[in-house]
Amino acid sequence: MARIFAICFALLIVQCVTGAEPAAKKEAATKKVPPFAKLTVAQPAAQQTVSGCIDVCIKAELPDGASMPVAMLVGLGGAPWTPLAKKGDTGEWAGQLNSTLVPNGPQKLIVLTDNKRANISIDVVVSNPLQVFFGDLHSHTSYSDGTLAPAVAHDYARNTSKLDIFCLTDHLEGVSDDEWLDMRRVAFAANEDGKFVSFPGLEWTKKWGHINIYDPKTRVWPEDPAEFYKAAADAGVVLKFNHPGDGTVTHDGLAYSEAGDKAMQLMEVRSDVEEKAFIRALNNGWHIAPDGSDDTHSPNWGNVKTWTGILVPGLSERNVLDALKNRRTYSTLDRNCRLGFEVNRAAMGSVLEEPCSSVQLAIHVEDPDAGDNISLIEVFEDGNAADRCEPNAAKHQWELNRPVKPGKHYYFAKVKQADGNVIWSAPVWITGSGQ
Ligand SMILES: [Zn+2]
Ligand SMILES: [Zn+2]
Repeated sequence: MARIFAICFALLIVQCVTGAEPAAKKEAATKKVPPFAKLTVAQPAAQQTVSGCIDVCIKAELPDGASMPVAMLVGLGGAPWTPLAKKGDTGEWAGQLNSTLVPNGPQKLIVLTDNKRANISIDVVVSNPLQVFFGDLHSHTSYSDGTLAPAVAHDYARNTSKLDIFCLTDHLEGVSDDEWLDMRRVAFAANEDGKFVSFPGLEWTKKWGHINIYDPKTRVWPEDPAEFYKAAADAGVVLKFNHPGDGTVTHDGLAYSEAGDKAMQLMEVRSDVEEKAFIRALNNGWHIAPDGSDDTHSPNWGNVKTWTGILVPGLSERNVLDALKNRRTYSTLDRNCRLGFEVNRAAMGSVLEEPCSSVQLAIHVEDPDAGDNISLIEVFEDGNAADRCEPNAAKHQWELNRPVKPGKHYYFAKVKQADGNVIWSAPVWITGSGQ
């Protein structure tokens, strides 16, 4: 018995010393990865600046035993995904990608195949001119205190009001789970890249003040304003101060919140009274752009008296949400007047980090209706009208230089038309170097 014990013990020691592995583990370690297609991007080149519709060509080499992918898709940093077509037996796949549907700047050109191991990406830079599209980002249906239903509202906004961009924002306190599901379903179904952008929204409605939330993933948000600001900043949504009056009463008198400023990008500015709230908020330190949504509770979505101009390289949900995040909006009482406002060549909404000793302001206004003349353009510096011109034409380009004092400053443009319509641009924020 003692001898058998000794033999077993000896065998155990031998196994430990030789490191013998269990059979299953050994098999897994020796299992070979099946060969897969090696892809390279032949066009465009890595680091290339691309614009408009771009030709994409992918070359596939097949190591022994590898098979050609069955399908290939290409996208710039994500959706929309464009299918590529196989060019006979050349090993090449080709197609065209519309770069105007994604935000400007560095993007990854991603190639997806039916074999994850074969997928590749390269870095490119997307650069397309900004265009103006018109939208309404605040309205209601019977899901809170308006009329009819989201499907009717989206159809009206697109086909009767001829809006480019629409976001329904029923009061979240009155929306049920089923209604919230329907709001999202209808908004996503109505969206059509290149033609009409829609995404879901909600209005956070407290005595303290009303705030719109764009593209929220949930309808459950904190009641307490400070907690709400933090939750919104953490969630990465875009917020808007709604109907702020003159800014002294609602939203705690627009007291600055660092967490809130991260998520808050917009404020309704549709009258001289709301302009006071806008300037008060800017002077308090908020980085926000004016919005001209109409907050209708009637069946006339996007067909009232105020609209929002949104500057994007092309009409897509990604671009519009990017524009809102970067404050590239203006408020307009005219349905189709286009406004461009740049400071040191940066678009409206920009925060320029590099200190400067002077600013070059460029304002471009263009109303497509002959005779719908611009009577006055004012440039505001830190909330005060600093310079003006009186074009008396439907189209005008105005450029001016101004010296800058040390410290932080902001500029925006206010345009008046002869018929009384007013347009407010988003500000640009700068730091004066004092040299
Ligand atoms: Zn409201
Ligand atoms: Zn409302």
